[in-house]
Amino acid sequence: MDNSVFYMTVLQNIENYVFSSVLKDFVFDIIQIENSVRKIIYITEFSILSSFMHTLVALDRDGTINKDEDWYLGSTSDWKERITFLPGVVEGIRQLNRIQGIDTVIITNQAGVARKFFSEERMHEVNQHIVNELEKQGAAVKGYFACPYVSQRYAAERHRQGKDIDDKYVRDNHPEQKPNIGMLVRAAKLCGYSLESCHKSVIGDRVSDIEMALRAGGRGYLVESWKTNKDHDTEKVILLAAKHPGQIMISKNFFNAVEHIILFHISGKKPS
Ligand SMILES: [Mg+2]
Repeated sequence: MDNSVFYMTVLQNIENYVFSSVLKDFVFDIIQIENSVRKIIYITEFSILSSFMHTLVALDRDGTINKDEDWYLGSTSDWKERITFLPGVVEGIRQLNRIQGIDTVIITNQAGVARKFFSEERMHEVNQHIVNELEKQGAAVKGYFACPYVSQRYAAERHRQGKDIDDKYVRDNHPEQKPNIGMLVRAAKLCGYSLESCHKSVIGDRVSDIEMALRAGGRGYLVESWKTNKDHDTEKVILLAAKHPGQIMISKNFFNAVEHIILFHISGKKPS
């Protein structure tokens, strides 16, 4: 999407947004301006004015950033060729990069390590490669956080199915395994602030991504993948949304989630 079109969309959405009276005047001033380049400059200034809090945006990896298939990325020698970024992801991260006060990270559970499909070293290699490839395309993330641990229940289920599990990576309720928030805590620290002091938004394709956002007091954006549908995660997320009004959105796609996050950030509004 062309930048001017993107900002036009943002501005149109802002018209429907609730602001304080001072900010509302400011927004209406922006809307009066016809030149799209000036709009971009103003929106950036607006972002500086209103962003009294940072926004930490955590992106899930498989099924959110890259296409998820019925195999574990990193388990085959051709893993690099198997990475396909999903539509709107590169452009969406680029737009997040443009807004002052927004930091973007990747947060991923990688059960493939416990399943012995690949080593912890390979897990890091794949993650770093994804970060590098995104950066090459002008879509920067501050870093990645990956958890190789699985729960006892997960392990027991796999054992029942006759599948192999590395006991070294079986830990119940590991603080870094989504939906726990350990990786978010580390991500905020990497960005130079505490998790308590920032807005949190998580984009992911699983209910565990949305639960992590809620546990951190943030907002969750579900983007659907085949795994979402396989495990009926949308239905679970709808139930969560009923209990947490205003904190969960089922997004049409990645870019739609990004657009909403940016709107929220520049409005300076706290989650309701
Ligand atoms: Mg996923």
